[in-house]
Amino acid sequence: MTTAHPSESTATATPHDPAAAMLEETRGLIDDLSLGAVHQWKAEHPGGLAIGYMPIYVPRPFMEAMGCLPVAVFGGGDQTDIIRGDSYFQSYICHIPRSTLELAFSKRLDVLDGMLFPSICDVIRNLGGMWQMLFPERYSAYVDLPQDFDETRGGLFYAYEIKRIAADLVRLGARPLTDDALRAALAQENLRRTALMKLDELRRVEPWRVRASEAYIIARAGSVLTTEAHTALVNRFLARAAERIPRAYDNVRVVVRGSFCEQPPLALIRTLEASGCDIVDDDLQLGLRFIEGMFDENAADPLMELVRGYLRHGVATASRYIGTDVKGEALVKRVQACGAEGVIFAAASFCDPALLDQPMLEAALDRAAIPHTGLKYGENTGQFQVIREQAGAFSDAVKLWGSAA
Ligand code: SF4
Repeated sequence: MTTAHPSESTATATPHDPAAAMLEETRGLIDDLSLGAVHQWKAEHPGGLAIGYMPIYVPRPFMEAMGCLPVAVFGGGDQTDIIRGDSYFQSYICHIPRSTLELAFSKRLDVLDGMLFPSICDVIRNLGGMWQMLFPERYSAYVDLPQDFDETRGGLFYAYEIKRIAADLVRLGARPLTDDALRAALAQENLRRTALMKLDELRRVEPWRVRASEAYIIARAGSVLTTEAHTALVNRFLARAAERIPRAYDNVRVVVRGSFCEQPPLALIRTLEASGCDIVDDDLQLGLRFIEGMFDENAADPLMELVRGYLRHGVATASRYIGTDVKGEALVKRVQACGAEGVIFAAASFCDPALLDQPMLEAALDRAAIPHTGLKYGENTGQFQVIREQAGAFSDAVKLWGSAA
């Protein structure tokens, strides 16, 4: 059974939409695999270093404090033909390392002065090792995020990791890391966090005013912008969204989980929306939301404040050890706090962290009687009909019976 659902083009995308032009322009920014915005930043900041990093999270503020531009690299998406990248990886792993290598081989990452590979999974670790062999002349480093959250052990280790990379960046030409500059960078990050929280709240409360696909575009622009520029962009978008004259739809409110690293094509997010789902929370672009809450921007030791942010306020996700908590508890709480009616697990094919966690998350949802469904994608997925039918059936079932059964 199907019910009428809004098409991809909702009331928020009418010709008179005050946010339309801005969304289109920002889409151009995130689709630009040649990193035009990074080239522009480097032209405006002679000698400035652009440092790429793989998902999910690296502590960006210390790099900005050193005058560097951190650049989030999400592979080639659905716009890159893989010619050489495939030959470096077995077939049964995700897509993002292949397309990232392809971008590098095609020189589109040459604008980056270095690459960081955070400890999220074996694939990223191996990509980092391969990078060192394939591009020995380029700076790269593995960022070993701690899984021991005691400040005197994991905290000190993590602070050492940051200092180690900071020293490398100084050797490459960055200015030394100072406490004052780091406090200023933490303050900027707080402003961005505030803006993103407003964006998330708006689409949670009025998902018909700001769709998840739009929030995604706006958040992802932070991949290639300074924190200050990104905050201004988010706030500009919020102002435009407030001017919209939206129409509410009778959609099902869902949370999407599992999309924290390799990103689905934008068309997939829109397909979920078109099949009757208001995505009121997701883990797309999790890196910018990885620390929940604010930094103390006046901390006596700002480096340890950056460390504490990760230790104490890091989000519950697959690549982060959760200690004595019950797996899935954080998800259940988030679903309830969002007033969501169900969860869609959308993970990249062969993504070990997401797919190994999923059964435990599903069990937690089952205990709380929260309906869920699951799908897999590749960043270059081009067919959405099956996903549309599955998500449509899920939203119909939840709407009619309050469960996916
Ligand atoms: S998509 Fe999953 S498996 Fe692949 S690199 Fe990212 S976290 Fe690792």
